Amino acid sequence: MLDINKLVTDFPEVGQLIAEKPLFWHNPNYQESAELPIDLADIFDAEARFQRFAKYFEVAFPETLPTKGILESPLIPIPEMQTSINEKLSSPLAGKLFLKADNLLPISGSIKSRGGIYEVLKFAEKIAVKAGMLVYEDNYAILASPEFKKLFSKYGIAVGSTGNLGLSIGIVAQKLGFQTTVHMSADAAQWKKDLLREKGAIVVEYNDNFSNAITAGREQAAKDPNVYFIDDEGSVDLFLGYSVAALRLQAQLKAASIQVNEDHPLFVYLPAGVGGSPGGVAFGLKQVFGEHVHPIFAEPTHIPSVTLGMMTGMNNQISVYDVGIDGITKADGLAVGRPSRIAGKFMRTLLLGTATFQDDRMMAELARLYETEKIKVEPSATSGFAILPRCQTELAKQYSLTDSTHIVWATGGAMVPADDFSRYLSEGQSLLEK
Ligand SMILES: *Cc1c(COP(=O)(O)O)cnc(C)c1O
Repeated sequence: MLDINKLVTDFPEVGQLIAEKPLFWHNPNYQESAELPIDLADIFDAEARFQRFAKYFEVAFPETLPTKGILESPLIPIPEMQTSINEKLSSPLAGKLFLKADNLLPISGSIKSRGGIYEVLKFAEKIAVKAGMLVYEDNYAILASPEFKKLFSKYGIAVGSTGNLGLSIGIVAQKLGFQTTVHMSADAAQWKKDLLREKGAIVVEYNDNFSNAITAGREQAAKDPNVYFIDDEGSVDLFLGYSVAALRLQAQLKAASIQVNEDHPLFVYLPAGVGGSPGGVAFGLKQVFGEHVHPIFAEPTHIPSVTLGMMTGMNNQISVYDVGIDGITKADGLAVGRPSRIAGKFMRTLLLGTATFQDDRMMAELARLYETEKIKVEPSATSGFAILPRCQTELAKQYSLTDSTHIVWATGGAMVPADDFSRYLSEGQSLLEK
């Protein structure tokens, strides 16, 4: 049995988490040296696989033609947003603020287009090569032809998801020819389920939380040897798919003449659910930029799973429900009570810290981003803005922020139906005025 009193005695900040009060948590192990089982070479391996598949994407998903089959999102300066945020702050945000607009990533309009799709591609490539139908030097456009669809139709892909992971995997896996089953938690937005069904995927709904939905999905998939389960709670391939973002961001920063060094630190704010997508990106950034990039995770006060796991060192051995936190949030992409098996472990020395925020702040920032920059994102995607003022205060104690760069990672949104967005917007607008 978990002794909550002892936990709070050992880690007083856990008390603050249980009280569901916003906090900033400094990771005491940040920047220590550590041995990880993956490194830069693995990121390049993932990047090379995305490159091999670029010709396939051009054919199968013509919306990727402008980027030559590469799935990437823009880095957008957001000065109006920064000005608006500063109007309310006693000490204004120092440095320059950017949005990494993964809400515009092709195919699923979310960060899951990186990791989720990557793992599907890796599985498809393995099957095709093994069947003797594909060699690595082929033009992968052939994968869009009927004989490959026939090959892939003998296999299934299954995944547990709060929404966007299922969406990105479902769309690509169905297109390749796999039979896809998506196990969805009660939090998943209705339009995500509808869209997946429209694409031909099987959607299994659970009137339960994410951790239980994923467990049920894993067990069901294990019964069929031809079904490949993509495991959001521990897949290293997913993690590596996300990490490729760092190589792309390096090029975008260079193009924008932004340096990353001791005098020009880079702070990156990433929303965390299981910790896989922000973990993969943070890992990639640390490999590419080293000590002067500082990743920070953002989590709702009502479901701070990665924060609780890392704070206590228990990682996936503890869930927010174990300590009586209710797990209720409007951030459907973050509604995950237990962190992944690898996120906390890999982030132990790579993550500067985490900060938690109230849903109301997130909704207000959604409205602010739309009003100032006309950018539409889903609620989870504005988490970085919700923690920004608190982080600024904390970071200023330790870093020179004068010439700093701040990137808020906007993790999803392009596919949100207009009606849903209007609802989010009017809710956010009423909160913003307060
Ligand atoms: C999945 C998701 C996240 C968090 O990713 P994890 O890998 O679960 O930590 C953040 N924002 C959005 C929009 C997402 O869909």
